[in-house]
Parts: sequence; structure tokens; C-alpha cells
Amino acid sequence: MEFRDLKRQYQLHKAEIDGAVQEVIDSTHFILGPQVVQLERELAQYTGVKHCISCANGTDALQLALMAWEIGKGDAVFVPDFTFFSSGEVVPLTGAVPVFVDIDKDTYNISVDSLRSAIEYVIRNTDLQPKVIVAVDLFGRPADYNAIRQIAKQYGLLVLEDAAQSFGGMADDRKTCSFGDISTTSFFPSKPLGCYGDGGAVFTDNDEWADKLASLRVHGKGSDKYDNIRIGMNSRLDTIQAAVLLQKLRFLEEELEKCGWAAARYSECLRGMVKIPAESGSMRSGWAQYTICLKDIEERERVIAQLNADGIPSAIYYKKPMHRQAAFAANLIQAVSCENTEYICERCLSLPFHPYIQETEIEAVCNSIRKALAK
Ligand SMILES: *Cc1c(COP(=O)(O)O)cnc(C)c1O
Repeated sequence: MEFRDLKRQYQLHKAEIDGAVQEVIDSTHFILGPQVVQLERELAQYTGVKHCISCANGTDALQLALMAWEIGKGDAVFVPDFTFFSSGEVVPLTGAVPVFVDIDKDTYNISVDSLRSAIEYVIRNTDLQPKVIVAVDLFGRPADYNAIRQIAKQYGLLVLEDAAQSFGGMADDRKTCSFGDISTTSFFPSKPLGCYGDGGAVFTDNDEWADKLASLRVHGKGSDKYDNIRIGMNSRLDTIQAAVLLQKLRFLEEELEKCGWAAARYSECLRGMVKIPAESGSMRSGWAQYTICLKDIEERERVIAQLNADGIPSAIYYKKPMHRQAAFAANLIQAVSCENTEYICERCLSLPFHPYIQETEIEAVCNSIRKALAK
């Protein structure tokens, strides 16, 4: 069994994808070719956001957003303590300081109470200027943007939506990538909309930021690429990747439906046995992961061992709170305690999950977990 099976998807759509890739090779328009322009148009339309600026990966997308806002030395950026490293890594790259915020124990997304406390702490106890809230749609579930927006408005902060795991997700009839002042996503192969290498994109309704982002991704270009008006990056999406994504966008909705079905099937099997993902209500998750929570570290070890013995892969996303990562030690500001993150890091476990997972596979995973818990 595969943790995220990318082969089944390719086998199903091999003809279209191979054709699209070959077309780029024949054209030799490898960088910012017409497929990139078309993809940006289609992604903007899909998400309902005015501008989409593609780039090299989801980490660059976050960095480009902070650069467009000219975040830097003396600024504080609030980041959930429970996320992939990138969400925080980009902050020191700009010279700003990341302030880690605890999560909600049920949704695994940023806790608005902890966020408010962290902002108050920074205002009272540091010389830093609070500037940005990075809200991550963890495992695919949109963060609580109504509450986050309210806090952002109260303190005059910008919202950066890290939708790397939630492309295609929805809340309040809006798609993810539309909730931030700027939003970003990743097309890493195992993400909800993945390409065949690295890729990412930035979304915004703001014309001025969109122009700046388009400049920043090509060495801070001005009127042309040999006129450089600011320090930027080399962060473009390859035309081949855009061609793959244009094909995959055609069946994304169908895949998201399949994911919804698979998640419901898992939850039906596991309810009462382990803690299952929180009900999504009227939201739609992008289902990057199906993550359960065990009683304690010992029980998690037992479940992993049984899954291993039954030939079933699993993964711990994430084992270590951001504030414990050595990379941040040099200028860490511990504004709030992150007890929920500590708790979840010791107990979470992500199970094999993808649109093409079979009912028999889900049953095998659940049986293996049942066996482990009975020991
Ligand atoms: C994957 C991921 C990123 C980074 O995306 P890359 O394309 O791998 O650079 C950023 N944030 C989160 C939450 C992610 O899961």
C-alpha cells in the first residue's frame, strides 16, 4: 500500500499528461511559456481571486508575499506552532521575527485566543511591530478566517493564507487561496493539486501587490528583465509543470469528491476507536492528510508498529513544534505557551490517503489499528 499513490492517477490520465508535456518540449518554450499564462488565468478563475502569480514552489510563494509587503527587520510575524517548517522559515529570511502561536486542539489550525495573547505580548513586551498573521489550512482544512480577520482588523495586521495543503478546499462558499490579503499554495507532487516536480503560486486581489509579485519572481524586473528595480528572486514555474497542472486541474473536483468519500469511510470505521478529524460542517477540506490522534505516545508507537507489521505506511506530521526547531533558537520570542501543539505532536498520526484509495485498503488500515489497540 502507498501512503499517497501518485501512480494510479498518472495511469488513469497518462495520454493527456504525456501529450501536454510533449507539446512543451516540442515548443521549447520552457520558461514562462503560454501554458504558464493560461494556468494562472485558470487558477484565478477557479479560486475566484483577481490575480494568480505562479512561482517555483510553495516556500518561495510565502517569501514573495512577505517581500511584496516589505516585511523585514523589526517586524513580528505570527505563525502557528504546528505546521510544516516553511510557514515559519520564510520569516527570518526577510529579517523579521516569527512568533509562534498555539493551535486549536480539534481543528489543528491556529487558535484565535492564543493569537490574541501573542499579539498583546509582542505589543507590551517587545520593540517589534506586529505586521502579519500567517494562517495555515492544516491538512486541508480552512482556518477560522472570520475570527482571524476580526483580529487582523483590530490590530491592523495583514493576513497571509498558507493554503499549501488546502487547494480546492472551501468555506462560506469561497475557495481557499481567497482568504488572505495574499494567499499562497504549493504544487509539490503530494499536495492536493500536485505537479511533477516543484511548483507554487501566489494569489491576491490587490493590483499593486500583484505587479510587485510578478517583478519579484523575476529578479525584481522593471520594464524588462534586464531592468532591475528591486532585489528579487529567480522563482518561476516551469512551462512543463504548468502543462501538467492544466491537465490535472480538469479532474481536481472529481478527486476532491473521492477524497471526501474516503475520509468519511475512514471516520465511519475509526469513530470511537481513536480521535478522528473534526467534522468539517459546511467547509470542504482539501484533504492533504487524514490525521488521527492517539491517547499517548506509547499508543502511537504500538499503532505504528502494527501498521508496519501489516505492510501499511504511516507518517507523523508533525513530530516537533516549530518553537522547538533549532533553526529558530537564535531569536525566539516565547510569547505564549503552546500546550496543544505539544500534546498533538506526541499523538498525531497520518494514515494512507489519496483520491484513489480503495475501500479494501481503508478497511485493512482500520483493522490493523483495531488490532494494535486491542493489545
Ligand atoms: C508543503 C508546504 C509548504 C511548502 O511548499 P513547497 O512547495 O514544498 O515549498 C508550505 N507550507 C505548508 C503548510 C506546506 O505543507
